Amino acid sequence: MPLDLLATPADELAAAAARHFGSDKGSGLAAAIFRRAMLRGEFAPEALGASPATALAWRELAELQLPQVVGEQQEATAHGAVHKRLLALRDGRRIESVSLPMGRGRRSLCLSTQVGCARACTFCETGRLGLLRNLDAGEILAQVTLQCREQRPDSLVFMGMGEPLDNLPGLLPALALLVDRRGLGYAQERLTVCTVGHVPGLHALRELGWKRLGIALSLNSADPAVRAALMPHSVRYSLAAIQRALIDYRQRANLAIGLHWCLLPGINDGAAEARALAAFAAPLGRTFVHVIPYNPGSAPIARAPEEAEIVAFVARLRELGLAVRRRQTKGRTVMAACGQLGGPPVSAS
Ligand code: SF4
Repeated sequence: MPLDLLATPADELAAAAARHFGSDKGSGLAAAIFRRAMLRGEFAPEALGASPATALAWRELAELQLPQVVGEQQEATAHGAVHKRLLALRDGRRIESVSLPMGRGRRSLCLSTQVGCARACTFCETGRLGLLRNLDAGEILAQVTLQCREQRPDSLVFMGMGEPLDNLPGLLPALALLVDRRGLGYAQERLTVCTVGHVPGLHALRELGWKRLGIALSLNSADPAVRAALMPHSVRYSLAAIQRALIDYRQRANLAIGLHWCLLPGINDGAAEARALAAFAAPLGRTFVHVIPYNPGSAPIARAPEEAEIVAFVARLRELGLAVRRRQTKGRTVMAACGQLGGPPVSAS
């Protein structure tokens, strides 16, 4: 079976080429083929100087499998358009990725790691799908490559469909490929993995020894009963165990561990919730709380918070000494905002 160019590390490709061609001739072209596949989503050995016979031999050795873009929607914002892509994978399953404008021309790409998700968080459309399957490393990379054809994302966040740490066999090789300077060459700090608190997965990331890889916890409540109601399939690890894993994850003092808080009016926006959040954050060292106003999907569990409620909760957290960023809602009209991926399609506005 041909090698998947978006899932094969550069060294492995070079070694396979050397074997296939029986000389270093193949491995010389391998570096250029690897780079072009990653950055441009192209596999054209002839364009890199290969003879027709060599190009044919390369096509026996490797293939480029890009998902098909079967839908695109955009929402205009003050900083540029939110751009959601619906991608059909080779088995017909569909995922979504979202390119977000971050100001000053920068873009962040929100990546999916699974088709659906087993975690069934009650505030999330993807969770309603259940887990259909994991993405492999090439399918994760392909989302970046497709975006690179328009504009290379400045940062990548694993916050799309799926719990990334439920798919370590796809995630870990994808991370290694993303930081490889012979290809996409992302700095570790440009990548953020967001998890519901998968403790062994956090340990696996710790074992990479990457001091700058961003990590965020989808916390949403520091009250165990409320969190269990909101995230019923994420109760296996206690908040204390998750807290311990995050403390262990830290490999440099100034890493800001993200704490994500989907703000649900009447559920987790009270004074007691804010105090519990502060108590949870206290032993973690430097943290940054991201308050994400709830985006009601097809089966809302609450209404969207009003502006005054968001401002009040953020102020409450700041009074408790927390560093807080209020996430601007982007993409809600095209079901591209946090918690809306995998939901029913809507007409583009
Ligand atoms: S919020 Fe994340 S972990 Fe929870 S169901 Fe949605 S995709 Fe899965």
